[in-house]
Amino acid sequence: MSTPAAIAHAAHLLRQGQLVAMPTETVYGLAADATNTTAVARIYATKGRPAFNPLIIHVPSYQAATELGAFSPAAQQLAEAFWPGPLTLVVPYIGTTISPLARAGLATVGLRVPAHPVAQELLAACGCPLAAPSANRSGQVSATLPAHIEADFGTEVPILPAGPSPVGIESTIISTLNTTLTLLRPGAITPEAIAARGLTLAPHTPLSPTSPLAPGQLASHYAPRAPVRLNATQHEAGNAWLTFGTHNPALASAPSINLSPTADITEAASNLFAALRELDSRNPTAIAVVPLPTHGLGLAVADRLTRAAAPR
Ligand code: AMP
Ligand code: MG
Repeated sequence: MSTPAAIAHAAHLLRQGQLVAMPTETVYGLAADATNTTAVARIYATKGRPAFNPLIIHVPSYQAATELGAFSPAAQQLAEAFWPGPLTLVVPYIGTTISPLARAGLATVGLRVPAHPVAQELLAACGCPLAAPSANRSGQVSATLPAHIEADFGTEVPILPAGPSPVGIESTIISTLNTTLTLLRPGAITPEAIAARGLTLAPHTPLSPTSPLAPGQLASHYAPRAPVRLNATQHEAGNAWLTFGTHNPALASAPSINLSPTADITEAASNLFAALRELDSRNPTAIAVVPLPTHGLGLAVADRLTRAAAPR
Protein backbone atom coordinates (compact mmCIF):
# COMPACT_ATOMS: atom_id res chain seq x y z
CA MET A 1 0.00 0.00 0.00
CA SER A 2 1.17 3.55 -0.60
CA THR A 3 2.55 5.28 2.49
CA PRO A 4 1.79 8.93 3.31
CA ALA A 5 5.39 9.74 2.32
CA ALA A 6 4.95 8.03 -1.07
CA ILE A 7 1.71 9.94 -1.64
CA ALA A 8 3.37 13.25 -0.67
CA HIS A 9 6.25 12.51 -3.06
CA ALA A 10 3.84 11.63 -5.89
CA ALA A 11 1.93 14.86 -5.27
CA HIS A 12 5.23 16.77 -5.45
CA LEU A 13 6.08 15.15 -8.82
CA LEU A 14 2.60 15.95 -10.15
CA ARG A 15 2.86 19.60 -9.11
CA GLN A 16 6.19 19.74 -10.96
CA GLY A 17 4.51 18.56 -14.15
CA GLN A 18 5.63 14.92 -13.99
CA LEU A 19 3.46 11.84 -14.54
CA VAL A 20 2.50 9.37 -11.78
CA ALA A 21 0.64 6.08 -12.19
CA MET A 22 -2.11 6.07 -9.57
CA PRO A 23 -4.46 3.35 -8.39
CA THR A 24 -8.17 3.88 -8.86
CA GLU A 25 -11.03 1.47 -8.24
CA THR A 26 -11.44 0.90 -12.01
CA VAL A 27 -7.91 0.50 -13.50
CA TYR A 28 -4.57 2.22 -12.83
CA GLY A 29 -4.44 5.74 -14.26
CA LEU A 30 -1.52 7.65 -15.80
CA ALA A 31 -2.03 10.94 -13.99
CA ALA A 32 -0.88 14.49 -14.69
CA ASP A 33 -1.86 17.94 -13.40
CA ALA A 34 -4.82 18.71 -15.68
CA THR A 35 -4.09 22.45 -15.53
CA ASN A 36 -0.54 22.05 -16.92
CA THR A 37 -0.49 21.60 -20.71
CA THR A 38 3.13 20.41 -20.75
CA ALA A 39 2.30 17.73 -18.19
CA VAL A 40 -0.83 16.71 -20.13
CA ALA A 41 1.25 16.50 -23.33
CA ARG A 42 3.48 13.98 -21.51
CA ILE A 43 0.47 11.69 -21.06
CA TYR A 44 -0.24 11.64 -24.81
CA ALA A 45 3.46 11.16 -25.67
CA THR A 46 4.05 8.42 -23.10
CA LYS A 47 0.95 6.42 -24.05
CA GLY A 48 1.18 7.09 -27.79
CA ARG A 49 -2.40 8.33 -27.50
CA PRO A 50 -4.01 10.32 -30.34
CA ALA A 51 -4.42 13.95 -29.26
CA PHE A 52 -8.07 13.97 -30.42
CA ASN A 53 -8.91 11.58 -27.55
CA PRO A 54 -9.93 13.67 -24.52
CA LEU A 55 -8.89 12.65 -21.01
CA ILE A 56 -11.06 12.06 -17.97
CA ILE A 57 -10.47 14.72 -15.32
CA HIS A 58 -10.41 13.39 -11.75
CA VAL A 59 -11.54 15.67 -8.92
CA PRO A 60 -11.97 15.05 -5.19
CA SER A 61 -15.68 15.84 -4.84
CA TYR A 62 -18.91 16.81 -6.55
CA GLN A 63 -18.35 20.29 -5.16
CA ALA A 64 -15.00 20.50 -6.99
CA ALA A 65 -16.66 19.13 -10.15
CA THR A 66 -19.25 21.91 -10.16
CA GLU A 67 -16.44 24.46 -10.49
CA LEU A 68 -15.44 22.86 -13.81
CA GLY A 69 -18.70 21.65 -15.32
CA ALA A 70 -22.37 22.67 -15.56
CA PHE A 71 -24.55 19.95 -14.05
CA SER A 72 -28.10 19.50 -15.31
CA PRO A 73 -30.59 18.16 -12.73
CA ALA A 74 -30.11 14.64 -14.14
CA ALA A 75 -26.32 14.99 -14.07
CA GLN A 76 -26.52 16.12 -10.45
CA GLN A 77 -28.74 13.14 -9.63
CA LEU A 78 -26.19 10.76 -11.20
CA ALA A 79 -23.31 12.39 -9.37
CA GLU A 80 -25.13 12.19 -6.05
CA ALA A 81 -26.03 8.55 -6.64
CA PHE A 82 -22.67 7.23 -7.85
CA TRP A 83 -19.85 9.57 -6.74
CA PRO A 84 -17.31 8.84 -5.47
CA GLY A 85 -17.29 5.89 -7.85
CA PRO A 86 -16.68 4.48 -11.33
CA LEU A 87 -18.85 6.91 -13.30
CA THR A 88 -17.62 9.65 -15.68
CA LEU A 89 -20.04 12.45 -16.56
CA VAL A 90 -19.57 14.52 -19.72
CA VAL A 91 -20.83 18.03 -18.97
CA PRO A 92 -20.45 21.51 -20.54
CA TYR A 93 -17.08 22.96 -19.50
CA ILE A 94 -17.40 26.13 -17.44
CA GLY A 95 -13.97 26.22 -15.81
CA THR A 96 -10.94 28.28 -16.73
CA THR A 97 -8.03 26.13 -15.55
CA ILE A 98 -8.19 22.78 -17.36
CA SER A 99 -5.73 22.47 -20.23
CA PRO A 100 -7.52 22.51 -23.61
CA LEU A 101 -5.24 19.62 -24.62
CA ALA A 102 -6.76 17.45 -21.87
CA ARG A 103 -10.22 18.24 -23.30
CA ALA A 104 -9.05 17.72 -26.90
CA GLY A 105 -10.29 21.25 -27.56
CA LEU A 106 -13.91 20.34 -26.80
CA ALA A 107 -16.39 22.68 -25.09
CA THR A 108 -17.21 19.80 -22.75
CA VAL A 109 -15.32 17.94 -20.05
CA GLY A 110 -15.44 14.36 -18.76
CA LEU A 111 -15.35 14.45 -14.93
CA ARG A 112 -15.02 11.69 -12.35
CA VAL A 113 -14.69 11.53 -8.55
CA PRO A 114 -12.74 8.33 -7.85
CA ALA A 115 -13.53 6.28 -4.74
CA HIS A 116 -10.13 4.64 -4.29
CA PRO A 117 -8.63 5.92 -1.00
CA VAL A 118 -5.14 6.38 -2.51
CA ALA A 119 -6.56 8.37 -5.45
CA GLN A 120 -8.51 10.50 -2.97
CA GLU A 121 -5.40 11.09 -0.82
CA LEU A 122 -3.37 11.98 -3.91
CA LEU A 123 -6.00 14.48 -5.09
CA ALA A 124 -6.01 16.07 -1.64
CA ALA A 125 -2.22 16.18 -1.46
CA CYS A 126 -1.61 17.71 -4.90
CA GLY A 127 -4.55 20.12 -4.78
CA CYS A 128 -5.09 20.07 -8.55
CA PRO A 129 -7.46 18.16 -10.84
CA LEU A 130 -5.77 15.12 -12.37
CA ALA A 131 -6.10 14.10 -16.01
CA ALA A 132 -5.70 10.33 -16.09
CA PRO A 133 -6.29 7.79 -18.82
CA SER A 134 -5.50 4.13 -18.20
CA ALA A 135 -1.80 3.47 -17.49
CA ASN A 136 -1.07 1.37 -20.56
CA ARG A 137 0.11 1.96 -24.12
CA SER A 138 -2.68 3.41 -26.24
CA GLY A 139 -4.99 0.82 -27.80
CA GLN A 140 -3.66 -2.03 -25.70
CA VAL A 141 -4.86 -3.91 -22.64
CA SER A 142 -5.53 -1.71 -19.58
CA ALA A 143 -3.39 -1.99 -16.44
CA THR A 144 -4.92 -3.40 -13.26
CA LEU A 145 -1.63 -4.18 -11.46
CA PRO A 146 1.66 -2.26 -11.00
CA ALA A 147 3.41 -5.09 -12.92
CA HIS A 148 1.29 -4.26 -15.99
CA ILE A 149 2.53 -0.64 -15.90
CA GLU A 150 6.14 -1.77 -15.60
CA ALA A 151 5.62 -4.17 -18.52
CA ASP A 152 4.42 -1.28 -20.71
CA PHE A 153 6.64 1.59 -19.53
CA GLY A 154 9.59 0.06 -17.66
CA THR A 155 10.85 2.47 -15.01
CA GLU A 156 9.79 5.54 -17.03
CA VAL A 157 6.69 6.15 -14.88
CA PRO A 158 6.71 6.30 -11.06
CA ILE A 159 3.94 4.14 -9.61
CA LEU A 160 1.89 4.51 -6.43
CA PRO A 161 1.26 0.81 -5.78
CA ALA A 162 -1.98 -0.42 -4.16
CA GLY A 163 -2.60 -4.01 -5.25
CA PRO A 164 -5.06 -5.11 -7.95
CA SER A 165 -7.69 -2.59 -9.11
CA PRO A 166 -10.84 -3.75 -7.29
CA VAL A 167 -13.35 -3.25 -10.13
CA GLY A 168 -10.93 -4.03 -12.96
CA ILE A 169 -12.89 -2.37 -15.75
CA GLU A 170 -13.12 1.31 -16.73
CA SER A 171 -15.73 3.80 -15.63
CA THR A 172 -19.11 4.10 -17.29
CA ILE A 173 -19.21 7.30 -19.37
CA ILE A 174 -22.51 9.16 -19.68
CA SER A 175 -23.09 12.29 -21.72
CA THR A 176 -25.45 14.68 -19.91
CA LEU A 177 -25.33 17.37 -22.61
CA ASN A 178 -28.90 16.84 -23.81
CA THR A 179 -32.12 16.18 -21.95
CA THR A 180 -31.55 12.49 -22.75
CA LEU A 181 -28.68 10.84 -20.91
CA THR A 182 -26.52 8.93 -23.38
CA LEU A 183 -24.30 5.99 -22.57
CA LEU A 184 -20.97 6.69 -24.33
CA ARG A 185 -19.08 3.77 -22.83
CA PRO A 186 -20.49 0.86 -20.81
CA GLY A 187 -18.52 0.35 -17.62
CA ALA A 188 -18.51 -0.45 -13.97
CA ILE A 189 -21.84 1.27 -13.20
CA THR A 190 -24.43 -0.84 -15.02
CA PRO A 191 -27.52 0.42 -16.89
CA GLU A 192 -29.52 -1.67 -14.41
CA ALA A 193 -28.02 0.27 -11.47
CA ILE A 194 -28.84 3.57 -13.19
CA ALA A 195 -32.39 2.45 -13.98
CA ALA A 196 -32.81 1.46 -10.32
CA ARG A 197 -32.34 5.17 -9.48
CA GLY A 198 -35.24 6.03 -11.76
CA LEU A 199 -33.01 7.51 -14.50
CA THR A 200 -33.44 6.56 -18.14
CA LEU A 201 -30.43 6.03 -20.34
CA ALA A 202 -30.40 6.17 -24.13
CA PRO A 203 -28.76 2.98 -25.30
CA HIS A 204 -25.12 2.74 -26.30
CA THR A 205 -24.95 3.61 -30.01
CA PRO A 206 -21.47 3.02 -31.41
CA LEU A 207 -20.22 6.11 -33.24
CA SER A 208 -18.08 6.23 -36.33
CA PRO A 209 -14.65 4.69 -35.64
CA THR A 210 -12.90 8.04 -36.11
CA SER A 211 -15.34 10.14 -34.08
CA PRO A 212 -13.55 12.50 -31.69
CA LEU A 213 -16.48 12.39 -29.25
CA ALA A 214 -15.71 9.03 -27.68
CA PRO A 215 -12.45 7.56 -28.86
CA GLY A 216 -12.87 4.85 -26.22
CA GLN A 217 -15.31 3.63 -28.87
CA LEU A 218 -12.59 3.23 -31.50
CA ALA A 219 -13.15 -0.18 -33.05
CA SER A 220 -9.80 -1.60 -31.97
CA HIS A 221 -8.89 -0.92 -28.33
CA TYR A 222 -7.89 -3.00 -25.30
CA ALA A 223 -6.07 -5.26 -27.80
CA PRO A 224 -3.56 -7.96 -26.86
CA ARG A 225 -0.95 -8.98 -29.47
CA ALA A 226 -2.73 -12.26 -30.18
CA PRO A 227 -5.99 -12.21 -32.15
CA VAL A 228 -9.10 -12.70 -30.00
CA ARG A 229 -11.90 -15.17 -30.94
CA LEU A 230 -15.24 -14.42 -29.27
CA ASN A 231 -18.00 -16.91 -28.37
CA ALA A 232 -15.57 -19.73 -29.11
CA THR A 233 -16.66 -23.32 -28.61
CA GLN A 234 -14.11 -25.33 -30.65
CA HIS A 235 -10.42 -25.56 -29.82
CA GLU A 236 -7.94 -24.58 -32.56
CA ALA A 237 -4.25 -25.47 -32.50
CA GLY A 238 -2.20 -23.18 -30.28
CA ASN A 239 -5.18 -21.33 -28.79
CA ALA A 240 -5.23 -20.12 -25.20
CA TRP A 241 -8.64 -19.99 -23.49
CA LEU A 242 -10.52 -17.47 -21.40
CA THR A 243 -13.26 -19.46 -19.71
CA PHE A 244 -16.11 -18.66 -17.32
CA GLY A 245 -18.10 -20.89 -14.98
CA THR A 246 -17.90 -24.63 -15.42
CA HIS A 247 -14.51 -25.57 -16.80
CA ASN A 248 -14.61 -27.32 -20.19
CA PRO A 249 -12.55 -30.52 -19.82
CA ALA A 250 -11.97 -30.66 -23.59
CA LEU A 251 -9.65 -27.69 -23.10
CA ALA A 252 -7.67 -29.30 -20.29
CA SER A 253 -4.36 -29.35 -22.15
CA ALA A 254 -4.60 -25.80 -23.57
CA PRO A 255 -3.43 -22.81 -21.53
CA SER A 256 -6.52 -21.32 -19.95
CA ILE A 257 -7.65 -18.86 -17.31
CA ASN A 258 -11.09 -19.06 -15.76
CA LEU A 259 -12.39 -15.52 -15.22
CA SER A 260 -14.79 -16.79 -12.56
CA PRO A 261 -15.25 -20.48 -11.70
CA THR A 262 -18.50 -19.56 -9.90
CA ALA A 263 -19.78 -17.65 -12.98
CA ASP A 264 -19.77 -14.31 -11.15
CA ILE A 265 -19.56 -11.52 -13.75
CA THR A 266 -18.23 -9.02 -11.18
CA GLU A 267 -15.31 -11.33 -10.44
CA ALA A 268 -14.85 -11.91 -14.19
CA ALA A 269 -14.64 -8.15 -14.85
CA SER A 270 -12.00 -7.72 -12.14
CA ASN A 271 -9.87 -10.49 -13.67
CA LEU A 272 -10.37 -9.62 -17.35
CA PHE A 273 -7.37 -7.42 -18.22
CA ALA A 274 -4.85 -9.36 -16.11
CA ALA A 275 -6.04 -12.61 -17.72
CA LEU A 276 -5.76 -11.15 -21.25
CA ARG A 277 -2.21 -9.98 -20.51
CA GLU A 278 -1.23 -13.32 -18.95
CA LEU A 279 -2.57 -15.43 -21.85
CA ASP A 280 -1.04 -13.05 -24.40
CA SER A 281 2.39 -13.48 -22.77
CA ARG A 282 2.26 -17.17 -23.76
CA ASN A 283 2.17 -16.22 -27.48
CA PRO A 284 -0.95 -18.21 -28.42
CA THR A 285 -2.22 -18.43 -32.02
CA ALA A 286 -5.36 -16.77 -30.66
CA ILE A 287 -7.11 -16.08 -27.37
CA ALA A 288 -10.39 -17.99 -27.52
CA VAL A 289 -13.16 -16.61 -25.28
CA VAL A 290 -16.17 -18.72 -24.27
CA PRO A 291 -19.63 -17.10 -24.46
CA LEU A 292 -20.15 -14.73 -21.52
CA PRO A 293 -23.27 -13.11 -20.06
CA THR A 294 -24.05 -9.70 -21.57
CA HIS A 295 -26.34 -8.22 -18.89
CA GLY A 296 -25.22 -6.15 -15.92
CA LEU A 297 -21.43 -5.76 -15.84
CA GLY A 298 -21.37 -8.26 -18.73
CA LEU A 299 -22.25 -5.35 -21.05
CA ALA A 300 -18.94 -3.63 -20.21
CA VAL A 301 -17.00 -6.91 -20.40
CA ALA A 302 -18.53 -7.64 -23.83
CA ASP A 303 -17.68 -4.09 -24.98
CA ARG A 304 -13.99 -4.51 -24.02
CA LEU A 305 -13.76 -7.97 -25.57
CA THR A 306 -15.45 -6.85 -28.81
CA ARG A 307 -12.84 -4.11 -29.17
CA ALA A 308 -10.04 -6.48 -28.21
CA ALA A 309 -11.24 -8.74 -31.06
CA ALA A 310 -11.72 -5.96 -33.65
CA PRO A 311 -9.51 -5.88 -36.76
CA ARG A 312 -6.44 -3.73 -36.12
P1 AMP B 1 -9.63 6.39 -21.33
O1 AMP B 1 -8.87 7.52 -20.76
O2 AMP B 1 -8.86 5.58 -22.31
O3 AMP B 1 -10.36 5.60 -20.29
O4 AMP B 1 -10.76 7.06 -22.22
C1 AMP B 1 -11.41 8.19 -21.75
C2 AMP B 1 -12.72 8.24 -22.40
O5 AMP B 1 -13.39 9.39 -21.91
C3 AMP B 1 -12.62 8.37 -23.90
O6 AMP B 1 -13.52 7.47 -24.49
C4 AMP B 1 -13.04 9.78 -24.12
O7 AMP B 1 -13.66 9.98 -25.34
C5 AMP B 1 -14.02 10.02 -22.98
N1 AMP B 1 -14.14 11.44 -22.75
C6 AMP B 1 -13.36 12.22 -22.00
N2 AMP B 1 -13.77 13.52 -22.10
C7 AMP B 1 -14.81 13.52 -22.95
C8 AMP B 1 -15.65 14.54 -23.49
N3 AMP B 1 -15.50 15.81 -23.16
N4 AMP B 1 -16.62 14.16 -24.35
C9 AMP B 1 -16.79 12.86 -24.67
N5 AMP B 1 -16.02 11.85 -24.22
C10 AMP B 1 -15.06 12.19 -23.36
MG1 MG C 1 -7.63 3.20 -21.77
